[in-house]
Amino acid sequence: MNNAPAFQDFLPQGDEITVLQDQIRKGRMVHALLITGEDGTGKRTLARLIASALLCRSEENRPCGICSSCIRVSDNEHPDLITIEKGVPLTNESRKSKASIPVDDIREMIRLSSSYPFEGGNRVILIANAEDMTPQAQNCLLKILEEPPENTYFVLTSGHPEQLLVTVRSRCRFLKLRPWEENRIIDILEKCGSDPERARLAAAACHGSIGYAKQLTADEEYWKMRDDIVTSFFRSGERSSILSVSSRWKENKADAEKLFDTLEECVRIMMIYRIEKKEDQRLNGFSDAWRRFAAEADPERFVFLLNRIIDARKQYGSNVSIQAIVEQLLLSFMGVI
Ligand SMILES: [Zn+2]
Repeated sequence: MNNAPAFQDFLPQGDEITVLQDQIRKGRMVHALLITGEDGTGKRTLARLIASALLCRSEENRPCGICSSCIRVSDNEHPDLITIEKGVPLTNESRKSKASIPVDDIREMIRLSSSYPFEGGNRVILIANAEDMTPQAQNCLLKILEEPPENTYFVLTSGHPEQLLVTVRSRCRFLKLRPWEENRIIDILEKCGSDPERARLAAAACHGSIGYAKQLTADEEYWKMRDDIVTSFFRSGERSSILSVSSRWKENKADAEKLFDTLEECVRIMMIYRIEKKEDQRLNGFSDAWRRFAAEADPERFVFLLNRIIDARKQYGSNVSIQAIVEQLLLSFMGVI
């Protein structure tokens, strides 16, 4: 279980996490918590940790990860954890709404919550992406938030809390997760068994989203594509290869955004190298000429390259062919070294 997410992982998010852990230990957590933050910041992971901790049977370290409660939470089989999310109806009768969380699900949850918790401890209601609730569902939820049954805790997650009714928001304590620092992402990826070089690269590419970084490290297609981009732009550097590279991208149109993201990330890695002058494994695969560029180039040259990538994105948005865009990018990149 040592790869499993832990409260420890969330400590860099700030003191609120320690306070929260303490409140859970003392049985004093607020009855409704709303975890907000951008995509991939770990909202749902934290919500499940809180649910585990509230249901865990261990006396000391909650969640312990090994008691029968913790195991059933991780297997989604705990009778006192009710999870509500779009597209997963609570009962066969509840309307199968793919676009939202229907009021029927909230009614069913209220019905289930009216009995004493099965295990005699706490009950946790987890509502993922709470903004998916219809206004009717939110109004229905409001009733139970106003008078929550004893030992019942609501943990909501939302990337768009502004889409929730003010009345619902005002009943919840907010906990905002921030984008993660690169070093923390690297630590967590390595803890989960990721290859160190891949962990560094994914951390640089994920814009602070730990969820996206985890997804990237496991995505073999992405690494193949990234290697291809590094080879074409930062290794071979032959003008004669421009046509063959750009025509390959013609077939690969769907990945254009990933091309722009990867180029931006490579330029950013070089800028960091320029400033910190520290050996950086992430430049593995770059030619000597590019490494020299990374070590010595005038900062304006990096800005020039970043601007070319912005231009490329704009052109792509206005339907210029990807082949022509890649050719221009290759020429610009070859032109600076
Ligand atoms: Zn436990």
